[in-house]
Amino acid sequence: MKIAILSTNPNLYSTRRLVEAGIERGHEMPVYNHKRCYMNIQSSSPSIHYNGEAIEGIDAIIPRIGASISFYGTAVVRQFEVMNVYSVNESVAITRSRDKLRASQLLARKGIGLPKTGFANAPGDTDDLLDLVGGAPVVIKLLEGTQGVGVVLAETRKAAESVIEAFRGLKANFMVQEFIKEAGGADLRCLVVGDKVVAAMMRQGKEGEFRSNLHRGGSAKVVKITPEERKTAVRSARVMGLNVAGVDLLRSARGPVVMEVNSSPGLEGIENATQKNVAGMIIEFIEKNARVGRTRTRGKG
Ligand code: ADP
Ligand code: MG
Repeated sequence: MKIAILSTNPNLYSTRRLVEAGIERGHEMPVYNHKRCYMNIQSSSPSIHYNGEAIEGIDAIIPRIGASISFYGTAVVRQFEVMNVYSVNESVAITRSRDKLRASQLLARKGIGLPKTGFANAPGDTDDLLDLVGGAPVVIKLLEGTQGVGVVLAETRKAAESVIEAFRGLKANFMVQEFIKEAGGADLRCLVVGDKVVAAMMRQGKEGEFRSNLHRGGSAKVVKITPEERKTAVRSARVMGLNVAGVDLLRSARGPVVMEVNSSPGLEGIENATQKNVAGMIIEFIEKNARVGRTRTRGKG
């Protein structure tokens, strides 16, 4: 097969591993920088161009779209879908999971465990919003943050009010969440491929840090997850419509709660922690599932 990876950097660990795993399994693995793809959206012959040439003969794509370029990146994925090329994660699913509020609403609708979460627009509602999630301490997070940036722990009500005021002043969209203290600065990253958790790790924030992100100095180790955690991760990916997802869970006193569902999960941390060939499993999934026109939404919405 000819499987294209959309990635802004061919030297990133995840991109390199996917290329390597694809070649190992006998595929052609071109990498295109989606920022440099341009499109003809004509109805009779939609096309995508790169460096002066039309991209042709692609059987499937693996989008690795960073948070900072979601808008254009998902438009490129959608264009492949319009051209009937199979995308392992569809554009609509990527967009859905990127917006933390939208994702939480969809997960809540399906009865998946979440931290108590509040969202408001008007400044006058701050007090009630804080009460709604159980009062301080609370976690306040920007809706489109990533890698732990824009996630703040406010230990007192006063601190929470100040942070909320600051975010409002910046016109940033944010949500307020119950602080899951018993998680102890650790979370579980479950790597879902298809309807299975193929690898899982526990990430622990560095001393004194409640955020477990590896980018914030956290460390990772392999972990055995419970059947309930496994089920929650698989269902969350399915609700988002993602075939490949990194589902982050916190171990709360009332069972697993979902933090976020990542549509371009990094492979370095999880492959190193678990010694599993996750890239190979993603390629294998594509071999089994990629078909022309198999795109469920065909780039709609
Ligand atoms: P990002 O997208 O920036 O990674 P997250 O929502 O995943 O943002 O938050 C980053 C980290 O902060 C999480 O992995 C978790 O360790 C910690 N965290 C986030 N929200 C909470 C919460 N409500 N309770 C406890 N810890 C949290
Ligand atoms: Mg996170």
